[in-house]
Amino acid sequence: MAKINLISLQNPRIWLPTVVICGSLFFSAGAHFEPTSVEANGASSAIPEPVRDSAIEAELEGILGVGFVPRDRTKFETILAKITNETPIETYVRGQGYQVLALAIADDNLPAAVALGEAILAKAFDSGNANAIAEAHIILAEAYLQKDEIDAAENLISDIEEYSADVTNPRVQYHAKHLIARTLIRFEEFGRALEYMLDAHAIISATNDASTQRRRQFLNLHITRLQANLGNYRAAIETANATIEESLRYGLTERLPDIYLVRAYAQQYIDGPSPELVTAFLEAAREGAALGNGRVEMLGYNNAGAAELLMGNLDAASTYLEQGIEVATRINNVNERSVTEFNLGYIKVMQGNYEQGLAEMLAAAEVFKSFALQREISILLSHIADAYEMAGMYQEQAAVLKEQNEMQSELFQNERDRVISELQVRYEAGEKSLQIQILEQDAQLQAQRLSEQQRTQKYAIAIGILLVIIIFLTAYAYRKSRKVNQLLNRANHELNEQSLRDPLTSLFNRRAVQKRFLDERRTYQGTHGLFLIDVDYFKSVNDQYGHDVGDEILVEVSKRLIDITRENDMVIRWGGEEFLLIIGNIDTASLSRFATKILRSVCQEKYQTSKGALVITISGGAIPVSANQTNVIENWDESLKLADDLLYMSKENGRNQIHVRAENHTTSIALS
Ligand code: GH3
Ligand code: MG
Ligand code: MG
Repeated sequence: MAKINLISLQNPRIWLPTVVICGSLFFSAGAHFEPTSVEANGASSAIPEPVRDSAIEAELEGILGVGFVPRDRTKFETILAKITNETPIETYVRGQGYQVLALAIADDNLPAAVALGEAILAKAFDSGNANAIAEAHIILAEAYLQKDEIDAAENLISDIEEYSADVTNPRVQYHAKHLIARTLIRFEEFGRALEYMLDAHAIISATNDASTQRRRQFLNLHITRLQANLGNYRAAIETANATIEESLRYGLTERLPDIYLVRAYAQQYIDGPSPELVTAFLEAAREGAALGNGRVEMLGYNNAGAAELLMGNLDAASTYLEQGIEVATRINNVNERSVTEFNLGYIKVMQGNYEQGLAEMLAAAEVFKSFALQREISILLSHIADAYEMAGMYQEQAAVLKEQNEMQSELFQNERDRVISELQVRYEAGEKSLQIQILEQDAQLQAQRLSEQQRTQKYAIAIGILLVIIIFLTAYAYRKSRKVNQLLNRANHELNEQSLRDPLTSLFNRRAVQKRFLDERRTYQGTHGLFLIDVDYFKSVNDQYGHDVGDEILVEVSKRLIDITRENDMVIRWGGEEFLLIIGNIDTASLSRFATKILRSVCQEKYQTSKGALVITISGGAIPVSANQTNVIENWDESLKLADDLLYMSKENGRNQIHVRAENHTTSIALS
């Protein structure tokens, strides 16, 4: 087994909120393991037999720093030489136990470690001493856990729990609790793990010696990560803040970079990415570098890059991610390097380089899947899905989301603490299946966009999307979902647009007038021109050239009307070959000029149809309407009636003209 695996093995990992990109919070290697160097005080004095050699125990305590393996191996060898068959059993197990861990971790020799561990276990059983028996089990399990043999470690847990009942040494009790917690984390049972961590915390807090603060820092770091893993980000931040404050007070700097990192992580879950968090991640990276913690340095850069990426600052993101890659290469961390590579691929996708970007993301994902927690893989999949979406590969996106959805249902299944996690899972599962549904509809929609029936189909789908979203939002109203809001807006917009437009000409329909002009009249003030226009002898056009040519003409008339109007004017298909124009802010004097403009635009040039060039004329009636005196609604029907009367006068008068009524004067406008 590679050394790298060993390093990430015992580390609970947390992912950044939204995106992969953010990398995991896997934990730092050596600096990370907690020495079980607690001296038991009090309890031992009650035991009559000399079960411990306090001189040797003090020496052992002295050579342990932050880590399970003695820092000074030579010095350790000299202490080990003093441990013989005559040494009291508890000290014997503890001293030989460090040798087991040194063989497993430092020498990467699990078989030798297990052989020695089992010999110690046999000796402990012979003694009948509960502290020794429990510790021998713990040491063996620890060796397995450190070497990623998580099933073997887990097999020992029930024995450890059984023998722990009689353990009097708090150091052993403490080690038992956090060992079980760290094993459960590997099985993604975060809720149960948290309980064990809190138990360990309670034991430690009851002791008061030189190592108490260091052990509390270790546990608090784990607890912070667990809280984050359980989605309890505010609690994680609180724990981190308290731990940082305490660490600074006691001058315990070694694990601070880890804590800065997890705090920034949790913060990003709550607030989303920001320049401040980029700074925080960079600070964690710098602190990690200063203390020789390459892992935190690497993850700090990765997360700074991820945050920039989330904010769309792709250049800055690349810079930090490249720095992360450099560190990963330096410390030879192939596994976690994949997270950063994944993010770099993501940037390429965001830059439109879909093929290469996706290829890099998928390659990195393969590495990542080989060692990461299910939960992390699930998050990774959602980013792959996002990338497919950007690339417009909706089928692939749906497939990835399906894979993720299946995974999601397995996730947390062993979790006792469902109170915290269940809502999250339900929410995510709900959201994912919704996304799949929408994606499938989207893909369908795209194909149909080419066909003539597109409008009605789209309408139905939009209603479908809207309904699903409404149901979804009602059920999960307490949770903000940017994505869903976007979809909702899109669906709403499409629905509105479609219901306000005439399918043939794309002009507004009658409904649009009601909504835009009459309902929202407060936005319309001043004098406007109302023009009612009807195509002359249109029935003959249909009869002579066919309905299709009639349609072509209606489309062209619409185009010509749109050409002479401004954006705020409204051109409405009022009926078959009848159009209503509401021309904004036009004074009475200008009405006639605009009537001429309409006639020129619509009637002067022949209509190029599939059956040849045709001359088309129109007749119309025009009046001023006012939106700020009484208001348009009250005069609306009267105004329409008046415009219609004027239109009729134009027809009667020979067509191809517009009757304009202003200040009690009626004038017929025609082209000369
Ligand atoms: P006038 O000059 O008096 O307005 O005579 P007209 O023939 O234009 O008037 P009439 O109301 O008799 O006929 C209007 C015709 O417009 C009848 C109807 O079939 C046709 N029409 C209505 N909607 C459409 C359409 O969407 N496409 C086509 N091609 N024809 C339409
Ligand atoms: Mg008509
Ligand atoms: Mg007509």
